[in-house]
Amino acid sequence: MKAIILARVSTEDQMTEGHSIPAQLERAREYVRRKGFEIKSEHQFDESSIKDQRTKFELVIDEIKQTTERIALIVETVDRLQRSFKESVLLDTFRKQGKLEIHFIRENLIIHQDSNSSEIQRWDLAVFMAKSYVLQISDNVKRSIEHKLKNGERPGKAPIGYVNTRTEDDKCWIEPHPFKSKVIQRIFEWYATEAFSMDQVSQKVKEDFNLALPKGRIDFILKEPFYCGLNRHKGMLYPHRYQTIISKDLFDKVQAIKAGFHKKPFKYAGLPYLYRGLIRCEKCGCAYTPERKKGKYIYYHCTEYHAKCDTKWLREEEITKQFSDYIDKIHIPDKIVKSISNILKKSHQGKVDYYNDVSTELKGQYDVLQKRIEKMYEDKLDGSITESFYNKKLIEYRSEQSNINTKLKNLQETDSNYYTTAIYLLNLANKAPAIFKRSEPDIKRQLIKIILQNPTVNDVTLNATIRKPFSLWAKGPSRHNWLPREDSNL
Ligand SMILES: [Zn+2]
Repeated sequence: MKAIILARVSTEDQMTEGHSIPAQLERAREYVRRKGFEIKSEHQFDESSIKDQRTKFELVIDEIKQTTERIALIVETVDRLQRSFKESVLLDTFRKQGKLEIHFIRENLIIHQDSNSSEIQRWDLAVFMAKSYVLQISDNVKRSIEHKLKNGERPGKAPIGYVNTRTEDDKCWIEPHPFKSKVIQRIFEWYATEAFSMDQVSQKVKEDFNLALPKGRIDFILKEPFYCGLNRHKGMLYPHRYQTIISKDLFDKVQAIKAGFHKKPFKYAGLPYLYRGLIRCEKCGCAYTPERKKGKYIYYHCTEYHAKCDTKWLREEEITKQFSDYIDKIHIPDKIVKSISNILKKSHQGKVDYYNDVSTELKGQYDVLQKRIEKMYEDKLDGSITESFYNKKLIEYRSEQSNINTKLKNLQETDSNYYTTAIYLLNLANKAPAIFKRSEPDIKRQLIKIILQNPTVNDVTLNATIRKPFSLWAKGPSRHNWLPREDSNL
């Protein structure tokens, strides 16, 4: 059979050894040899040049279209093929027609016309995992900031009035500075009396505490919500866990004075309204927006931005009940949990082997450098090389060693993340209904986003698609897409 090889690198891959295009091509060619296929063409995608990706993939599709015989598409892993291509649906059409087999080398998975449902399910699962995995890497930094914020921690340095310290078990912590926190309190109190301008506050700080804080700094301090218990990040506020210096009332009062009493109070990040931004109107496509009625009931209704829509208003409790009904559909029998765990283990094993290969290689390189350094030290003692040459080389070798360590660390992290995600999702699916009922609004929102796609309301009925792979384990009918949609935000 003729084979098309597809190799691909992404921006994150540049960080990891062994992912390079030549390395992928080499392994794919070896695979083709082993299978006794004949290479028809090789395609390379470099994600750092996004421009031509699409057209390149179209070339592959065209090539498959034009061949009359059955063809094998060889890719290293599922995520090489299906990270970002909408066209995977096209590939599946070719497969169903019997025109195409897809070989995933590392997953040891071949998908063809006669693939049974468990193989297809493995593919689905792998595509899903690849997507979540990729998001996980690319959002790493963003996530760790968000994670900290949601945990009530501060991602960066503490503002003036606080000090960054460490707890007994060596965790980062933030405490009020014994002296400066008092100054901050005074600044807020003085300004709140409305008797002092910011300039005058600055002067008083100088007189009373002998601290030089110019007007600009005072302004900055008066706007900092951290003092009353909130982290500000990208215009949103997140409650933090550290000791506050001033009360929320005092902070609000100061904001009102600064704004001349007219501006709106701060918006709270997703706090009061559970389903804000999650639901759309099925009739007209507009967002559903929450509104409080008679002080306590929260209703959701169509924003009617396009035109008058005349849909009913829905109580938040009613929406919760309907969401809950959806999530209740998901149940994975223990037997299936076991079998999926095995599938995951199997494809994980491939990654572990690969990790071992690469890390052995890197450790080898590290040791070579170490030997060179030791040898060089002896040469220096012998007097066969000069001190300055030794120093120059030492810096060079040490920096190479530190690069290798970084690579090793990256390798470890991405790999364990992958597995954690898989197991996490599996457990999540299994316990979703219970988690949904118990948990805080924030977790509820997360769970809905992970499990359901495009929730819409048609008058009084909530409709949503249960995402793959959760839909595989859902009882009863659901709007069912064959592959995860490109625009879905998993
Ligand atoms: Zn509407």
